[in-house]
Amino acid sequence: MLDYHLHLWPHGTRASEPTLDELAAYCEAAAAAGVTELALTEHLFRFVQADGALRGFWDDDPDPRLRTQLAGYWDDHAHADLDVYVDAVLEAKAAGLPVVLGLEVDHYAGRMDRVAALLDGYPFDVLLGSVHWIGAWGFDQLGDPAVEAEWDQRAIDDVWDAYTDALEELAASGVCDVLAHPDLPKVGGRRPAVPDEWYDRMADAAAASGMAAEVSSAGCRKPVAEAYPAPALLSRFRKAGVPVTTASDAHGMADVASHGAELRALLADAGYDSLVSFRARRPAPVEV
Ligand SMILES: [Zn+2]
Ligand SMILES: [Zn+2]
Repeated sequence: MLDYHLHLWPHGTRASEPTLDELAAYCEAAAAAGVTELALTEHLFRFVQADGALRGFWDDDPDPRLRTQLAGYWDDHAHADLDVYVDAVLEAKAAGLPVVLGLEVDHYAGRMDRVAALLDGYPFDVLLGSVHWIGAWGFDQLGDPAVEAEWDQRAIDDVWDAYTDALEELAASGVCDVLAHPDLPKVGGRRPAVPDEWYDRMADAAAASGMAAEVSSAGCRKPVAEAYPAPALLSRFRKAGVPVTTASDAHGMADVASHGAELRALLADAGYDSLVSFRARRPAPVEV
């Protein structure tokens, strides 16, 4: 079992320099849950280097309320130094901890070439690809008034369509290795009556790009109360030959390797008997 999606800093808190003790504690908690390898995958938008390359991507959105909300969110997050983070994880690897160096990279519409240039030269093992924004709308920031107001205005099918467009662009860019929380728009519990069209497109996009997909327990801790992806989407990934990782998306110790039994059951039901790990962005099969 893997936990291939881990953050060091909860949203709403300032980043601190990761310590070897902190990473060792993550590994210890994971091992107790039967997890043999961890990927540290902090958000790209936590780092000042991303601020330099990507600030203002939200200016394309016509809605001033969403632009203002996202600018504030961005400013709350972009304070850490990518080189310090990379060095800390490499130090943990060198010390023998079962960790690999990753990052959770977002989809930046029309700007994935800038993202690729920014990441070039770093010794990442695995890059997660996530769609967190539709235009300037951070649709999974539940509880934010501007975000919630937008959910009330948009048709669910339109949201899924726009999300899938973004996911397809992200996959086709070739910048990332694993599709994180593939059906994230269900986070608040609003989902299309017939999602098949979008499930098909997501599975096709993953297969065509050669990406893996993530089976994540994060949704179990959200209003939707279900892992990502839904069983019907995971079955499509399986049919399309898309390999998978497992992940908690923890933002602190409490959730490291959470809901492992649920994830194992999901994988078994979909017919997966192996996972995929990464070194230097090259995949290798491992046991569930
Ligand atoms: Zn995410
Ligand atoms: Zn995450």
